Amino acid sequence: MSAPWLRLPWQELVQAQRQQQLSHAHCIPWQPALGTDVFIDAFIALLLCQQPSGKACGTCKSCLLYKAHTHPDYHQVDVAEGKTTIGVDAIRALTEALQGTATQQGNKVAWIQHADRMTVAAANALLKTLEEPTANTYLILSPERTSQLLPTLRSRMRLHRFSAPALPDLQAWLEHQLQQPLSKAQQQLMQRYAQAPYTALAKVQAGNDDSVAELELLLQVLAGQGSWPLLTKSNWLNYLDASAKLLQELIRVSQRLPEQRLNYPELQQQLTSLLGVKGYSVSQLNQWLHLCYTLRQQTEQQPGLNGPLLLQQQWLLWT
Ligand SMILES: [Zn+2]
Repeated sequence: MSAPWLRLPWQELVQAQRQQQLSHAHCIPWQPALGTDVFIDAFIALLLCQQPSGKACGTCKSCLLYKAHTHPDYHQVDVAEGKTTIGVDAIRALTEALQGTATQQGNKVAWIQHADRMTVAAANALLKTLEEPTANTYLILSPERTSQLLPTLRSRMRLHRFSAPALPDLQAWLEHQLQQPLSKAQQQLMQRYAQAPYTALAKVQAGNDDSVAELELLLQVLAGQGSWPLLTKSNWLNYLDASAKLLQELIRVSQRLPEQRLNYPELQQQLTSLLGVKGYSVSQLNQWLHLCYTLRQQTEQQPGLNGPLLLQQQWLLWT
């Protein structure tokens, strides 16, 4: 594991495997900005490898089959195209596939991506497999929101948690990736994306943050300059994101946090004067922020929803 914050969780897995104490079911959250996508991939490879030593060897027959996406003992389930949930049929097909013996004389591995999108019936169908696991079978569930999984499922899995490194460690990692010290501007970018190291790396490498443009535009409209942007199906999620970031920053500024703790210190003056003019209270800002989060969640679950219209309605509350 090249990312330092993934090393300890990885070592725990490797050690448990060596001591033959590895749980059969693992919940590893889907957080690519933290690198858990790489972690899951390496874990699946480790489980399938015929001669692992701290990681998958990469050269045995099993490793080659996995790399070629043709390993017969590896099964992957995700939300099917055009659907929003994982249904009971997909889980039944999976549990049946896991019943037989492994064809490569090793482990059988199943990965359920977006596991929090399983319907209740699907989750219940999976529960039986978790309660009575077949030999040498490993299940990995990677929900975007672990809290959305049924408690009965969660209680039968090893829950893995990942957290972003502390700022000095993140800076050291970024500087190692870039092979040079971070400039002041890059440090600001790092601070803004401190909870998402891989996003921070991409922003620092690009040298700028294109998401600021939308946030600045919203700020201008609120300051009485210009009109609300036209929302379309392709741009509204960016504006929803910018709306949440703007509200978060307004909360930080109204709480008079020091400059080092602001994500957009260059906007501090504008935000302060906006707060003075509008008289927003922290509880009001928090309420609107909560509406942004709810809207994002709703659109993930109900793709038919008119997101652009709903976001426009939220903006009206701010004026
Ligand atoms: Zn191998």
